[in-house]
Amino acid sequence: MKKPLRVQQQQTTQVHESDLRARWFRIRLEVDPRPNVSPAAPQANSDPVFLVPNRTELGPGIPVKVYAPVGRCIYCGATEFILGTGRKLSEEHIVSEGLGGVIVLPEASCEACAKTTTKIEGNILRTVLWTPRRHLKIRGKKRKRDERTFPLTAVVEGKDVPLHLPLNEHPALLFLLRLQAPGILLGRPEEFSGIAGLWMQELISDSINEMRDRGLPSFASPSVDTVRFCQMLAKIAHGFAVAELGLDGFKPLLLEQLIFRELAPKENWCGCYHLVGGDPEDYAPDDALHVMGWGVDQRGDKHFLVVPLRLFANLGAPVFHVIAGELDQAQLERALALAKPREQPPDRTPAEPQ
Ligand SMILES: [Zn+2]
Repeated sequence: MKKPLRVQQQQTTQVHESDLRARWFRIRLEVDPRPNVSPAAPQANSDPVFLVPNRTELGPGIPVKVYAPVGRCIYCGATEFILGTGRKLSEEHIVSEGLGGVIVLPEASCEACAKTTTKIEGNILRTVLWTPRRHLKIRGKKRKRDERTFPLTAVVEGKDVPLHLPLNEHPALLFLLRLQAPGILLGRPEEFSGIAGLWMQELISDSINEMRDRGLPSFASPSVDTVRFCQMLAKIAHGFAVAELGLDGFKPLLLEQLIFRELAPKENWCGCYHLVGGDPEDYAPDDALHVMGWGVDQRGDKHFLVVPLRLFANLGAPVFHVIAGELDQAQLERALALAKPREQPPDRTPAEPQ
């Protein structure tokens, strides 16, 4: 796959402890008033390679993967798209098409559940991921918006100033949460946040120069709604778990506890980190745009089905771990029988001089 656009900086922002329980986060970037120095030549990345058990990858050039039809709504069990009409269930894109999703579960969603999951994905795709998706040329098939200019918030003398800029002048920040392991695995009480920090990458270095030329000293990313973000990861993990293990292959945990959780518009809720977490370590960029897999994690006498998920893996983005469900003894034995042999880490011993 082609390497991404030029990258000026990649960093982790520490979040003040008292702010960790907030539901919304955004990043503010100060524009250095000095002219831009040309970025240093890329160095070999020494971060460990993230090995995904039972790996599936998505991205440009990777063929569409279609699983066997499910015949039941993977969220509510309905067998018709609209009750009483006999209409077939709709296909489910495990990762939204708006994120370049090319893995499909046929006959897998009813109309009501499709509305819920589309709302969850839409919230994230149209905010924090909106301009990054355009910069990285990841687009869904529906193009309804007028896309000649893109919104941006400049911060001038401490005040937010809305701007609309063409894509080539727009500083696109890809900004994701960096999470601790899911609370259920750590025995962490639900009222504690799972946020370990924020990860960001500026996608085009020239856009910073543009901001400097305009005399705009500071700008802010769109806000990420942490609950919606965790719900989106949960939706992907649930669909993938059903695709790989079947609807009866595990006892789902994400549906009532997270995907269908209704919250008041301004309600803070850290319970989303109970089943959705991550690995706060840095891993080397992957060749694929997104990677995911599944594995089993035993805690006491319980066996959890864990879906490791890395969106924007090719940019070195953080790894998430989502607890898709629990396995009873028969489900565990079946899962272990389906598991592929573990990948081996690549050999990084330098070649002998000739
Ligand atoms: Zn349904």
